[in-house]
Amino acid sequence: MATRTIIEQGDEALAKRCHPVTNFDERLWELLDDMHDTLEEAHGYGLAAPQVGILRRVCLVTASDGHIIELINPEILETAGEQEGYEGCLSVPGLYGWVKRPDWAKVRAQDRNGTFFEAEDVGMSARCFCHEIEHLDGHLFTERVQGRLYTEEELDAIQAAAEEKERKGRKKR
Ligand code: ZN
Repeated sequence: MATRTIIEQGDEALAKRCHPVTNFDERLWELLDDMHDTLEEAHGYGLAAPQVGILRRVCLVTASDGHIIELINPEILETAGEQEGYEGCLSVPGLYGWVKRPDWAKVRAQDRNGTFFEAEDVGMSARCFCHEIEHLDGHLFTERVQGRLYTEEELDAIQAAAEEKERKGRKKR
């Protein structure tokens, strides 16, 4: 197992539609194992194969219970609800933007042996399903951002201001 280099926005591999996986062999397993290591080292929530330069329909998503789901040839079956929040991406380091997503998503995919399964999740994991599967079609979250992108420092300042407003509001009551 080894980590792979995460490519960044501007690299044309991130704008390409990825090919379906047809061989569930050792090469795929090595890619998956490397993606686990890469995700862990980057402290990310999800990772798609094109982010390590492999144009195959493979991604990892952290489920609500903390375990990492391997998704091969995934598709979104159903979504529900709505959530809004700041979103980031390991291929767009240090920048975050406000993105609206469904609050629940159900996906169908194959596991590393080719067996089909369904998974559903809420909150951050539902957001992650949508984000990672969009990577496989060559799309980045930045295309969905409302307003502009913010740096981590700006985000901290926005959060601090919101907490201060909340604190003052509470005092008045
Ligand atoms: Zn991403």
